[in-house]
Amino acid sequence: MLLVCDLHVHIGRAGSGQAVKITASRDLTFENIAREAAERKGVDLVGVIDCAAPPVIADIEAMLESGSMTELAGGGLRYRDRITVIPGAEIETREPAGGMSHHLSYFRDLAQIKRFSSIMQQHVTNLNLSSQACGLSARELHAITSDCGGVLIPAHCFTPHKSPYGACVERMADMFADAWEHIPAIELGLSADAELADRIAELAARTLLSNSDAHSLPRIGREYNLIHMEEGSFDELLMALRREQGRHVAANFGLDPRLGKYHRTHCEDCSHIALSEPPVDTCERCNSTRITRGVLDRIVQIADWEKPRPPAHRPPYQYQVPLQFVPGVGAVTLNRLINRFGSEMAVLHQATREELGQTVGQKTADLIIQAREGILPLRSGGGGRYGRALTEKDTGQMKLPRVG
Ligand SMILES: [Zn+2]
Ligand SMILES: [Zn+2]
Repeated sequence: MLLVCDLHVHIGRAGSGQAVKITASRDLTFENIAREAAERKGVDLVGVIDCAAPPVIADIEAMLESGSMTELAGGGLRYRDRITVIPGAEIETREPAGGMSHHLSYFRDLAQIKRFSSIMQQHVTNLNLSSQACGLSARELHAITSDCGGVLIPAHCFTPHKSPYGACVERMADMFADAWEHIPAIELGLSADAELADRIAELAARTLLSNSDAHSLPRIGREYNLIHMEEGSFDELLMALRREQGRHVAANFGLDPRLGKYHRTHCEDCSHIALSEPPVDTCERCNSTRITRGVLDRIVQIADWEKPRPPAHRPPYQYQVPLQFVPGVGAVTLNRLINRFGSEMAVLHQATREELGQTVGQKTADLIIQAREGILPLRSGGGGRYGRALTEKDTGQMKLPRVG
């Protein structure tokens, strides 16, 4: 069967009320994640990546005790018979040669994540908080993760501040050495897509993941993977990442990378986001070299190939513009759409122009259809600012060429 899987969701707050991810919404509790993901987003399997935090472990233990959560025979946690949770942790590593990067370690069950958590206590100052720096190298983190029975996936691989390609190396094989061949998949991040990743030779053998990195409930599922597996469990997921016995990622659903926060180079002095052919390393407007390099600019810089060379196993990458990005769609319109069509996915991909028009008016309906067809004009993001859809107010900038 095909399952909708979002493997990178943060927890904002533990059941005790304790903050886990400071920058994440307080609504982001286990209960709310499961409800939002299952009922409003149509997500079947969710990777919750703050599970090594002791207050979250306490929550999982309480839920297992009360019966609201059960451990699956195939690994993973089943929550209220609605959704499978894969427990994981996002950890920041530091390379001896310099540069920091984020990695996602996923585990099969509570015992594994508890063991991982107790080892990480020795390396992290405050494990109660999310995405903490551990001082270990990526290779060392990989060894600890594997030793606990888990699997490590490099996170948002190209982002400028904390990622393998964005901040550390040109080749992940250099970063992981012998461990590289045991890494089945990488996470693209919001500012990249499969077409861009397929310009790097060492990624040809890897499965690509598109996850939301949600720090608030509405963002769950803004990127996801459609995965063919027999059931939603850790073992099945791992087989799919390794493309074993027919299991595989059948499609990636991701933002148009221009909407990501780091797609193009951003000037720290004048806030200009690059518009010209990548790679841009100097601000086009003020000539400053104090820049945050864009994901597109970085990929062009380190690419092996000028054109993408997708391997035979590469599934389609389908673009979606989450409703939050469609001009004129606020909270009221969003609720009306979800109530009418059942989920955001149904609005984005299935509702007809006519049905949409009856629900929210023709103008907004047309924008949703343009977004679906990939013809909504977009302005690239950069330096931590999301890209956005251009509106009539932006006239004069309307006909930006699509770069990359
Ligand atoms: Zn991260
Ligand atoms: Zn500038």
